Amino acid sequence: MSHVFAPPALVSVPVVGRPERFPVHRVYCVGRNYAAHAREMGFTGREPPFFFLKPADALVVADGPNPTPVRYPSLTSDLHHEIECVVAIGRGGRDIAAADAAQHIFGYAVGIDLTRRDLQASMKQQGRPWCIGKAFDQSAPIGPITEAAQAGDLTHADIWLKVNGNERQRSDLGQLIWSVGEIIEHLSRAWELQPGDLIYTGTPEGVGSLIRGDVVTGGVQGLVDISVRIA
Ligand code: MN
Repeated sequence: MSHVFAPPALVSVPVVGRPERFPVHRVYCVGRNYAAHAREMGFTGREPPFFFLKPADALVVADGPNPTPVRYPSLTSDLHHEIECVVAIGRGGRDIAAADAAQHIFGYAVGIDLTRRDLQASMKQQGRPWCIGKAFDQSAPIGPITEAAQAGDLTHADIWLKVNGNERQRSDLGQLIWSVGEIIEHLSRAWELQPGDLIYTGTPEGVGSLIRGDVVTGGVQGLVDISVRIA
């Protein structure tokens, strides 16, 4: 098949210990999924999970020994870090029950949901979509994917983020308001999940601003750490 111009390259993420890469379909994100983060954003109580998306080409694969450069985005003066556990879907489906979710998971990675917090806040206030605050270019750094069998039990895994070596975020996945299985249950009612979908599962408390030159490192126990430099 020919095209009127060269089609964009397929976005993919390396898989630990394998030569084959994980081809990316969509990038879903869960909002406010840790109680202490919901509180710091001004919300209380359990609400149904809600979702937004980032374009697949907003991913930045950060898998080097050195911090991977990420551009400080345009239009903002309040770029925030959000460390998140990312679920990689290997088998698609609709109306997946939480109890069956594990069969659909290929693996897990560490991701950072970079956010133009000032623009997100302005859009929230006006009741407008969050896209400009969340779905910008290079807004989704991600580390290599560890297959589920190698990742072990992540139910209570530590999750943390440091900026220039100083700890900003620390929690554990046991603090998720909606578990990974419940997220997949809710998400697959709204969209048919496809192999290649990624789900950023939400961030714990301690989100904060980044400036140019900051080195951001983060991890989830059992997965490969991520390291980026804001350029
Ligand atoms: Mn987030």
